[in-house]
Amino acid sequence: MAILVLSGPSGAGKSTIINNAAPYIGSYYFSISTTTRAPRNGEMHGKEYYFVSKEEFEADIQAGNFLEYAKVHDNYYGTSLKPVNEALQEGKLVIFDIDVQGHKLVREKLDDITTSIFITPPTLSELERRLNLRSLDDDSIIQRRVANAKKEIESIKEFDFVIINDTIEQATKEFIAISNAARLKRSHKEIDNIVKYWKN
Ligand code: 5GP
Repeated sequence: MAILVLSGPSGAGKSTIINNAAPYIGSYYFSISTTTRAPRNGEMHGKEYYFVSKEEFEADIQAGNFLEYAKVHDNYYGTSLKPVNEALQEGKLVIFDIDVQGHKLVREKLDDITTSIFITPPTLSELERRLNLRSLDDDSIIQRRVANAKKEIESIKEFDFVIINDTIEQATKEFIAISNAARLKRSHKEIDNIVKYWKN
């Protein structure tokens, strides 16, 4: 059972890195989050996110359906518990793209099976350049994401690894190495079993 948490500003290249690394990291489940933010051009319900209303999201919170959730840029984002549990049972590496608050919550609950990476472009101005280049968001949203990135970088020390995404090739290589190591992390329960077996 292993979890890999990825955090870092929108525009850090997380999805590109995962897509490039996919053939080299074994069987994994990429957790599709639920959000109340509006879909961007080209985003589809059930692919990038499950897009729901604020009321639906709050009902899910009440029902205890989330492993973790947070408010980011004034919208709710959350990880549903059920598919994550299923994928863990199937022995898949479960990958989360969640913010630094989500990382804290996952650590509190599942620390012993969690490995985490903070991914960032080399500088704040490079982040701004990339967000403008992909032109998915209008100016005020980009400014909000940049402000949020400035805040998120303060949590960088809470992560096991930091990937500076300068070139996508190098960042992908580092991601593959960390993903394969994450799989080798033993839960406390597995270690207890190893010790029991070892003593017999
Ligand atoms: P975006 O709107 O660019 O897709 O995502 C904005 C931020 O929300 C990113 O930092 C992303 O990692 C974070 N995020 C996406 N899904 C979740 C989630 O399920 N939980 C938490 N805590 N953060 C999430």
